[in-house]
Amino acid sequence: MSAGPRPDRLVVVTGTGTEVGKTWWTAAVARDLRARGSAVAARKPVQSFAPTDALTALDASVLGAATGEPPETVCPTHRWLAEPMAPPMAAARLGLPPFTIADLVGELHWDAGTAIGFVEGAGGLRSPLADDGDTRTLIQSIRPDHVVVVADPALGVIHDVRLVVGALAQRSLVVALNRFDDHDPQHTASRDWLADRDGVDVVTSPSALVSRWS
Ligand SMILES: [Mg+2]
Repeated sequence: MSAGPRPDRLVVVTGTGTEVGKTWWTAAVARDLRARGSAVAARKPVQSFAPTDALTALDASVLGAATGEPPETVCPTHRWLAEPMAPPMAAARLGLPPFTIADLVGELHWDAGTAIGFVEGAGGLRSPLADDGDTRTLIQSIRPDHVVVVADPALGVIHDVRLVVGALAQRSLVVALNRFDDHDPQHTASRDWLADRDGVDVVTSPSALVSRWS
């Protein structure tokens, strides 16, 4: 872990895959916590994107808008990779030097007094994040207080969640079902199956997470 203060609660947000809603969930929870007076911050250790993506749509911009920090604070600009691939592959393709999980961890800085700090990975839990590891490696390195696994509640969710949860030895883990529809019987049955049979802690709205941490 980098020198300097650590948030009172450190939360890593990962997912069962890419584009499952990690950034949306992190921003929604952070915005709500901040509105309730919590000192929140979010970090995206590295982001890759298409060169045509709007600046405001980048993860660091969305997270920074929610927490009140500039995107360059959320993700250092030398980790902005304008190539829509897993970060270490994007860096290689852009001719940039390889980087390690330790490099990314060393670049995590928090203001003193941060109550809740979120770290968003890239892609899913096992997607390459650096040359030598993925978000699971990051979790093993920084030992967060909580891990949030964002998942799509569509058919296949039980399989996806089981693989991710089984790959982590994390005591405090919450599965966040994104775009959950209370009126969809497949969504509700899957939620109940994960909760009742697997003992997974499942939430279906950002406010459910906020109420635990505010
Ligand atoms: Mg994201």
